[in-house]
Amino acid sequence: MTDNPQDTPGLPLAKPLDEAAIREFSSRVRGQLIRPEDDGYDAARTVFYGGFDRRPALIVRVKDATDVSNVIALARESGLELAVRSGGHSVAGHSTTDGGIVLDLSEMKELEIDVERRTAWAQTGLTAGEYTAATAAHGLATGFGDTGSVGIGGITLGGGVGYLVRKHGLTIDDLLAAEVVTADGELLRVDAERHPDLFWAIRGGGGNFGVATKFQFRLHEVDTIVGGMLVLPATPEVVASFVAEAEAAPEELSTIANVMTAPPMPFLPAEVHGQLVIMAMLVYAGEDVDAGERVIAPFRAHAEPIVDMLKPMPYPEIYPPEEDDFHPTAVARTMFIDTIDRDVSQTILEHLRASDAPMRVAQIRVLGGAMARMSAEATAFAHRSSRIMVNVAAFYEGAEERAAREAWVTDFAAALRQGEGCAYVGFLGEEGEERVREAYPESTWDRLAAIKRRYDPTNLFRLNQNIPPAIEQ
Ligand SMILES: Cc1cc2nc3c(=O)[nH]c(=O)nc-3n(C[C@H](O)[C@H](O)[C@H](O)COP(=O)(O)OP(=O)(O)OC[C@H]3O[C@@H](n4cnc5c(N)ncnc54)[C@H](O)[C@@H]3O)c2cc1C
Repeated sequence: MTDNPQDTPGLPLAKPLDEAAIREFSSRVRGQLIRPEDDGYDAARTVFYGGFDRRPALIVRVKDATDVSNVIALARESGLELAVRSGGHSVAGHSTTDGGIVLDLSEMKELEIDVERRTAWAQTGLTAGEYTAATAAHGLATGFGDTGSVGIGGITLGGGVGYLVRKHGLTIDDLLAAEVVTADGELLRVDAERHPDLFWAIRGGGGNFGVATKFQFRLHEVDTIVGGMLVLPATPEVVASFVAEAEAAPEELSTIANVMTAPPMPFLPAEVHGQLVIMAMLVYAGEDVDAGERVIAPFRAHAEPIVDMLKPMPYPEIYPPEEDDFHPTAVARTMFIDTIDRDVSQTILEHLRASDAPMRVAQIRVLGGAMARMSAEATAFAHRSSRIMVNVAAFYEGAEERAAREAWVTDFAAALRQGEGCAYVGFLGEEGEERVREAYPESTWDRLAAIKRRYDPTNLFRLNQNIPPAIEQ
């Protein structure tokens, strides 16, 4: 946290917001201002993950792009740290700040769907679940991630890997245009023709380049899918054959397999609680339900399913209702790897067995398909040819447990590493600059740093997986 960013050239020293400055600012914005003494402050400063007990000096629930521009000006002039929040799911806690300003987009939820052209303009306060429920009314969808409450702001800027990744690619592969307020407060329309450098950078470069207020997405016909949850016993053979099956499946099928200890949930038989299982989500997004049934059938055949909820269903049902007061504390590591054979599966299970964290998981996402067909240079997300994404995570209950859980995920990630380190920026925690660099090949990083210098030379947008502006040669 840098409240007083003396090390950042070009930024003024931070000065606290005095009453006159707040009054003047509030006369210029339409959105609500929330300060530490106000009712609702504690709810307004809460983000998805627990463990980030930060106290912003000011939270602004912006209403439009002019508000966004005014908040950016206030941050620029005061030198206070600026946190930008869409859905509040930052794994690294980047959407809250101690003593700074939170620009909260959650009330900007307009959505214009053009059914004929199959496009939608969406304000970035929408969540993936809200967007998906609205477009589903027309039998249309854009792919986001595995969780409905994630904001479309953060997931899109990171790339977006979800249930349609093999069929339709990353979320950014459906991004046609955006409106972005840059560090100088200007609202820019960006697309393949206008500010193409910025359009390239925001497709994977995160929140480094400005505040996205609106996205225009392509929509696909996705109506009834075949999928849902399948729970299998986790043995090295079953994990390896699940992955092999997912890789061989047609690209209409995307899978997310959580190898984990079975939680004590009512839909799981009591005798498996605490045992290692594969809790998998499958989505077949093809046109024909019978073909979908044929594609998912082999997954049921690797072992006697513990729970089999695979069925034809409306696409939005992949985002079940969530509890508002769920704020887990967890540490995680993300990576891309090439293969999960029996030996790698064995390593996964050994590590999961060796921990006593209340919940621990290795999440496996088989990639390929449409995501891999785009060239690595097409967007700032460049790990296009990666075959499998793995996220390992341990949940913890008190701060005193954190160090042990962190050591376990670090050790687990090292045991799974295959070749060069590489990471998905959307799942990075606060892991240091080296890990941010692993999200980008060197040529991508250099191009991003040059674009950063052009649009945010003072690194005003620095509370993120930061790409510092390139130094002028
Ligand atoms: C439970 C859970 C499940 C997830 N599942 C997936 C998944 O399946 N696939 C996947 O790809 N990712 C997934 N993620 C990762 C997720 O995409 C990132 O954490 C993402 O940044 C969250 O977006 P948000 O808007 O909710 O978060 P926020 O915390 O609001 O934003 C995160 C960061 O993004 C930037 N940002 C957000 N909105 C804007 C904006 N409008 N303009 C400029 N910058 C902005 C800011 O730097 C901010 O700090 C998951 C995360 C969680 C917690």
